[in-house]
Amino acid sequence: MTDIKKNLDNIKDNLMSCDVGRSITLVAVSKQQELTKIIEAINWGQRIFGENYLQEALKKQEQLKEYDIEWHFIGPIQSNKCKLIAENFSWVHTIDRLKIAKRINEAREGMPPLNICIQINISRESTKSGLFIENLDSFANEIEGYNNLKLRGLMAIPSNMISDKQLTIEFGLLKDKFEKMKKKYKNVDKLSVGMSNDYMKAIRHGANMIRVGSNIFGVRK
Ligand SMILES: *Cc1c(COP(=O)(O)O)cnc(C)c1O
Repeated sequence: MTDIKKNLDNIKDNLMSCDVGRSITLVAVSKQQELTKIIEAINWGQRIFGENYLQEALKKQEQLKEYDIEWHFIGPIQSNKCKLIAENFSWVHTIDRLKIAKRINEAREGMPPLNICIQINISRESTKSGLFIENLDSFANEIEGYNNLKLRGLMAIPSNMISDKQLTIEFGLLKDKFEKMKKKYKNVDKLSVGMSNDYMKAIRHGANMIRVGSNIFGVRK
């Protein structure tokens, strides 16, 4: 068995073992990974891939265009990249500014609505992207009016520097907001939290979409 197959099986076993009574979507984060490894993951059944860097992603999309892949953009968004992101991805996880959302919405005209998550800066670190949670309600209301965006949920990158106790508090706030949004907005159904080193913890705290890179593909180049 290859490493990629082993790694994917291992993650699936872990997901089964949490038995949280909901399905978990695995986004395979393929940034800075070799094409052969990505193709291997595709051949083992993985269909959803996440990328952070637009130019790198566009190149891979071209090289992999014969495969039926759902591409997710999970990196920071510069305003001059909005058009290409809107045109070439099915999901964007990292919406945190109205100016960007508006541009992406305009660029998506004529295509099926783009699935988006609003990124929350849950740990309130100044170096991190994302909205502070208290600004979410008005932001989400605005986004809901954009016809070419489909608001699907929330995304966050919890700090790995903090105590379990603090993490539980942060996850709790996020889950609470997510549950409220699910009731308010008809398409909201995804809480995108959890990476290689914390996805089990994230799932225990309510995540149902995880973004895993190095645990599938190994260390990045
Ligand atoms: C790189 C990245 C991941 C995957 O990280 P791993 O630790 O390799 O699993 C997930 N989410 C985001 C936003 C990333 O930038």
